[in-house]
Amino acid sequence: MAIAQQGVTILGATGSIGRSTLDVVARHPDRFRVVALTANRQVERLAEQCSQFHPDYAVVADAEYAQQLTDLLHTASPATEVLVGVEGLEQVSADSSVHQVMAAIVGAAGLRPTLAAVRAGKRVLLANKESLVMTGALFMQEVEASGAELLPIDSEHNAIFQCLPQQAPLGAIPPGVEKILLTGSGGPFRTLPVEALAGVTPAEAVAHPNWSMGRKISVDSATMMNKGLEFIEACWLFGATADQIQVVIHPESVIHSMVQYSDGSVLAQMGNPDMRTPIAHAMGWPERMNSGVADLDLYQWAQLRFEPPDYDRYPCLELAIEAMRQGGSATTVLNAANEVAVDAFLDGRIGYMMIPAMIEACLKQATTTEIVTIEQVISIDQETRHAANEWINHAEHH
Ligand code: NAD
Ligand code: MG
Repeated sequence: MAIAQQGVTILGATGSIGRSTLDVVARHPDRFRVVALTANRQVERLAEQCSQFHPDYAVVADAEYAQQLTDLLHTASPATEVLVGVEGLEQVSADSSVHQVMAAIVGAAGLRPTLAAVRAGKRVLLANKESLVMTGALFMQEVEASGAELLPIDSEHNAIFQCLPQQAPLGAIPPGVEKILLTGSGGPFRTLPVEALAGVTPAEAVAHPNWSMGRKISVDSATMMNKGLEFIEACWLFGATADQIQVVIHPESVIHSMVQYSDGSVLAQMGNPDMRTPIAHAMGWPERMNSGVADLDLYQWAQLRFEPPDYDRYPCLELAIEAMRQGGSATTVLNAANEVAVDAFLDGRIGYMMIPAMIEACLKQATTTEIVTIEQVISIDQETRHAANEWINHAEHH
């Protein structure tokens, strides 16, 4: 029996996750049809992708990029309609011919389009962890209310999902589960003397030992803020408390996370560090399909190591866990402050160890409130960005 093709929108198609998603889609033309591809400013790459996949829509940041894209598509994919801005992103997330939305925009910019997909009741493939970290309980309530099918793309959460009982719903830790063991590689500075961290450069920070990713998440992996954001993400996705999640450093990135049960069983999901595995898992779920990832060669790895994280080396991880324990708007503030800090570090405006210093200052300065609306989240996000930029200006002039 032929399976009907499912319409797919890829938010952030030109990024690392977006390109891996298109690689998987291209392997299964019988199953998937690309309805929309989106990018911020990488017009040329987006045009190439359109000429290969011929989507109904392509979305870019503003009118100027739209004009450039339209010119490029004139012969390459004339039937593709070019849309603009957040409204365009929301439109292609909610379009009636779309079944699955890959949420792979980086940072808070992903919130509105991801929510639009949730509210339209789509299968939402969540790579954009920042949108869940910012909104927490509200995001999960929206999923519940719309009946959207939320599937985790983050390799750790995808691994945890695979290790949990299959009939268990998201958002509630199933009986018999004792603990989630969230693994992370420790990034490029795992063995550098702590005193040397202050002097590391953006180029060193984005050179991840095991994974090839966008620049923001690469810096987050070096500071382990990525693991902190994932800690928060896991609490919301799986309905776990902070005490039910343990971060474990595992430098080989072969185990992508584990679930420990009350009988002593520990289930792990393993594989090569290649995002096409969680992407194919979530797109095909509950069926399995080929992802193009090479077989895992266990002999190559000889040994797998596990270490506890050191908060002197990774203060961002501790800040994130504390923000989750504090609850309410603290994680919204944490996420916004981190985005500004990482940008400033990549631009050479602040040093590496100023990243946690600035986030801590923003958290101390903010009053924690309960989050009740998305508009409130967006205003806290903007206030924090403002405060964080002031902090950087101040640091630059002293
Ligand atoms: P990336 O920087 O490679 O790509 C980001 C994409 O978002 C690009 O297509 C870009 O055009 C688009 N974009 C950026 N700013 C935008 C804006 N303001 N408006 C609209 N579009 C915008 O990032 P990535 O590594 O692919 O990561 C994407 C998301 O997936 C992040 O939230 C990241 O945390 C998450 N994630 C990535 C990986 C990975 O291996 N790369 C793994 C797990 C989770
Ligand atoms: Mg991850």
